[in-house]
Amino acid sequence: AKKELRKLINSSTISTDGRKVELGCNIGNPKDAKKADENGAEGIGLYRTEFLYMDRTSLPTEEEQLEAYKAVLEIMGKRPVIIRTLDIGGDKELPYMNLPKEMNPFLGYRAIRICLDRKEIFKTQLRALLRAGIYGNLKIMYPMISSVEEVRAANKILEEAKQELQHEGKDYASNIAVGIMVEIPAAAVISDMLAREVDFFSIGTNDLIQYTTAVDRMNEKIAHLYNPFHPALLRLIKLVIDNGHKAGIWVGMCGEAAGDKRLIPVFLGMGLDELSMGAGSILPARKQIQSLSYEEMKVVADQVLQMDTAEEIEKFVTKLCK
Ligand code: PEP
Ligand code: MG
Repeated sequence: AKKELRKLINSSTISTDGRKVELGCNIGNPKDAKKADENGAEGIGLYRTEFLYMDRTSLPTEEEQLEAYKAVLEIMGKRPVIIRTLDIGGDKELPYMNLPKEMNPFLGYRAIRICLDRKEIFKTQLRALLRAGIYGNLKIMYPMISSVEEVRAANKILEEAKQELQHEGKDYASNIAVGIMVEIPAAAVISDMLAREVDFFSIGTNDLIQYTTAVDRMNEKIAHLYNPFHPALLRLIKLVIDNGHKAGIWVGMCGEAAGDKRLIPVFLGMGLDELSMGAGSILPARKQIQSLSYEEMKVVADQVLQMDTAEEIEKFVTKLCK
């Protein structure tokens, strides 16, 4: 069976009736990009850059970051590489930053909130990204966006970074696409407005489940309540896809659910443009999508959206993929 899957490495991911879905890979470092490539990834859907900042005693320099981003871009060649700006805080700590202990770390000082507050840290990363952009097909993605203001504030710093580089006579890519993670319910609800501000959306189901259902994703005691089949989650996902498409932008997904074979038919039917997952899930997902009809999955997605319990949805989609 493994051999059969290997044959799909260079084929594209198209349903029986011609709907194309891009299969991306989630990575944490340049080494992972090799694995993505070896597993037939059509792009990097999420490069979690926080690992560059962890396991060390000080912030990575612009040059260090440039090297890591460039390495990934060179491995992926023409294929798109979505690099997410620093998403620290929550469960990911950085001892050398002396982040405060918080009552509710997941509702606290994290990700874009830190970056907009500690502008110098953010700008260093943006400068490294802009400079890396000349080595491949780079897209920048902001995490934990909850408002239009945050996008505008982040873009303003991006513009400043460009001007600095221009001034210094350094090479950089001036036309990099900028997108956001949609992983906070507020962002999903105003996704029609956010779609006017950005070039793409990537739905982060890991956090979107946590925030939509008020279930801490790290708390084992309530792990049974952490449910990707919750109708509220699926409704939000559909809303984000529709709002993105109405505005003419691309909508992908990079949370764990994107690689779940029970949900892939539903996401295909809802019209997602991309699914990004761990390297090991890519070829199985390609095989699955190549056997599905988009028109039929549209009907399935509509049926699922009518169901009122997660249990019913889970049963229905589990049976479907047997
Ligand atoms: C997500 O929240 O779905 C996501 C992909 O980001 P992370 O798991 O890094 O929070
Ligand atoms: Mg997240």
